[in-house]
Amino acid sequence: MAKTASKQINKAKIKPLRFDTDWQYDPAPESAAAAQIEPEYGLFINGKWQKPDSGQYFDTINPANEKTLSRIAVANEKDVDRAVRAARNAHEKVWKKMAPAERGKYIFRIARIIQEKARELAIIETLDGGKPIRESRDFDVPTAAQHFFYYAGWADKLNYAFPQKKLNPLGVAGQIIPWNFPLLMAAWKIAPALATGNTVVLKPAETTSLTALKLASILQEADLPPGVVNIITGAGATGAALVEHPDVNKIAFTGSTSVGKIIQRSIAGTNKRSTLELGGKAANIVFEDAPLDQAVEGVVNGIFFNQGHVCCAGSRLYLQESIAKEFIRKLKDRISTLIVGDPMDKNTDIGAINSKEQLNTILRYIQIGKKEGAAIHQPACSLPKKGFWCPPTLFTDVAQSNRITQEEIFGPVLAILTFRTDDEVIEKANNTPYGLSAGVWTDKGSRIFNMTRRLRAGVVWANTFNKFDAAAPFGGYKESGFGREGGLHGLSPYLEINS
Ligand code: NAP
Ligand code: MG
Repeated sequence: MAKTASKQINKAKIKPLRFDTDWQYDPAPESAAAAQIEPEYGLFINGKWQKPDSGQYFDTINPANEKTLSRIAVANEKDVDRAVRAARNAHEKVWKKMAPAERGKYIFRIARIIQEKARELAIIETLDGGKPIRESRDFDVPTAAQHFFYYAGWADKLNYAFPQKKLNPLGVAGQIIPWNFPLLMAAWKIAPALATGNTVVLKPAETTSLTALKLASILQEADLPPGVVNIITGAGATGAALVEHPDVNKIAFTGSTSVGKIIQRSIAGTNKRSTLELGGKAANIVFEDAPLDQAVEGVVNGIFFNQGHVCCAGSRLYLQESIAKEFIRKLKDRISTLIVGDPMDKNTDIGAINSKEQLNTILRYIQIGKKEGAAIHQPACSLPKKGFWCPPTLFTDVAQSNRITQEEIFGPVLAILTFRTDDEVIEKANNTPYGLSAGVWTDKGSRIFNMTRRLRAGVVWANTFNKFDAAAPFGGYKESGFGREGGLHGLSPYLEINS
């Protein structure tokens, strides 16, 4: 019996299965019904929902189908002023006087409610921003909760973090965040500010305000005293008004280097403190002794995770010459299996580009890459008709001086270059205006230490990429900004520290 079966198999022409053409995963969509999105959101000031002074609202859309999800208030200077006053009042009367252990209890409570509402938050993040549900569910939301848990633990232990020092909160922190990790960036900013006794006015990005607004209702549920955290929405002008408000003590900004420079100019000559987390152009460096298949996975994760909307994305790949050909072949094979499409589908690897504007920027850079003479490779894949999409894109034959090597694209576009020696690749990797992150793939521990010492980047991952932890500091060199967020280092930018 067994003999006949094996004969039959041998006779049949065995054709290797092609993943992308011969079979597909069945759809596995998450349900939008598990999330409650209000048709309209006001401003969250002094613990209450308030109408905007201007009476103006803007639509927030789902970038995967261009449908409107909700209407969101535009905060003008008067609203910013109301929010800052509420934060000042809460700081003076309540938050700075509260016993640190009590402050910690509120932060723990926020962390726990985020966990309870994890599914709903993940769905809203994906609907509003376009990232795959797998990422919002497995990365964004749990890591946001982790930051609140982590900093809740520090609230009553600051004297152990800074022994023999006199510590005081700064007062009111104005916090401005981008659209690539909306809830997580809010957590990065709010959790350390609260743990150190500051109050907050937070402005999320225009295209992704919904999870920050959901967080406002979580703060209400946690009974956080009114005014301790205020969330105001709007575009760049709202952010600028917050930066310029005279009663803000500290600006914590995450976003582009160009806006970071505007902010620095605007607060020059004031006594406002600032931390700026800006753009990046990370080098992912693969040596010939690296475990190549793992490195392929790491490179794919490094640039295609979250559509490349990641400040620390591994957007430059440096391959040692001897393995370059083989590595590029493996990489092309791997990206032909990536699933681009509906972000709510649990199998999707690459979701929607966050906005039409960002898609246009990415497409412009793809044209620039071609004009500069680089060779482009995009796997054949069908993209949905509505919404904003970009397939995974590789550029080979790229020069170090090309704009696609030097400038942040903030999309799923990888520039591939080669090198021969350690010294050469360090020189090339450090040769951009940025210095946020880098990756090294090699079997040799001594080489890892040599590279991490000499690469001018705030984070260097070894044989992995894009790993985050609330206990680990994060921040840049050069035009990637200054100041650190996360870990013990993330506490000091919110404290007056005297001996
Ligand atoms: P962006 O245009 O600089 O915007 C960031 C935030 O600033 C948004 O809330 C934006 O509001 C606001 N804003 C715009 N103009 C302003 C002004 N003149 N004054 C004050 N605030 C202003 O950046 P993005 O396009 O949202 O985000 C992408 C950038 O963020 C990339 O460069 C990326 O590398 C960087 N990023 C860095 C890190 C890091 O940790 N280093 C992390 C994530 C992202 P609107 O969006 O409503 O206009
Ligand atoms: Mg949106």
